[in-house]
Amino acid sequence: MKIPHLLSIGLFLFASSALFSQTNEATIETNKLSDNVYMLVGSGGNIGVSAGEDGVFIIDDQFAQLTPKIVTAIKAISDKPFQFLVNTHYHGDHTGGNENMAQQGVKIIAHENVRKRLMDGESSKDALPIITFNDRVNVHMNGEDVNVYHVEHAHTDGDAILYFTQSNVLHTGDTYFRNRYPYIDLKSGGSLDGYIKAVKKGLTLINDDTKIIPGHGEISNKEEYQSFLTMLETLRTNVQSEIDKGKSEDEVAANNAITKQYDDLGYGDFFINSERVKRAIYQSLKQE
Ligand SMILES: [Zn+2]
Repeated sequence: MKIPHLLSIGLFLFASSALFSQTNEATIETNKLSDNVYMLVGSGGNIGVSAGEDGVFIIDDQFAQLTPKIVTAIKAISDKPFQFLVNTHYHGDHTGGNENMAQQGVKIIAHENVRKRLMDGESSKDALPIITFNDRVNVHMNGEDVNVYHVEHAHTDGDAILYFTQSNVLHTGDTYFRNRYPYIDLKSGGSLDGYIKAVKKGLTLINDDTKIIPGHGEISNKEEYQSFLTMLETLRTNVQSEIDKGKSEDEVAANNAITKQYDDLGYGDFFINSERVKRAIYQSLKQE
């Protein structure tokens, strides 16, 4: 059995070096969304930046090895000092640059559970949020109020969504992926119904002209955000009706009809495929 074993090691090395070089070679693309708000796309969660007379305010920071490129991209927007950074949740593709960014002078803000989970993961002291909140917090900077809301048990148990009231920009963190299935991180306190509530909350904040920065995927709008909600509710209904018929998780996972409408649109072509989303929804509904 040596050959298959070597083959699998080879594939593993290939896959990890591909991931490494992807992050290493990532370039940071800057999109201007309003007079003072930008979306930065690199590798990992989408970054939001507000830059103006009061300094720089950042949302999420991707991976540690990308920090030099992220800093260069932000300095190309503004020469003002880095002031605050909000983590939308604790996952490493959103917080990996925390320690480096703290060394750039930011004060990190996040929900209490983000700090707890980063501490449990033995993050260094500099990587931890030093200002934490429970329900909500407001940041008053660069000529506008930025309202930061905790949404309960959605993608994780520490999610924040942020609304820039003058720029009319919403950053959803990973409570929204554009045209993709959700990642319901059940092990970190996420749930399907929390996800649905989070999107409903976001929809109450915005209007037809709002620009939405999703956790992953391209810049989005209210119409697409609304169809993401419809997708979540449709899959909830479909999986619940299988549960009501007494179907097992494996039977649900094997039933292609549940997700077909969205599989055909390519929603499963990313990190969370059709089988994974069906299993996560099944488990989430069974937990209730
Ligand atoms: Zn995440």
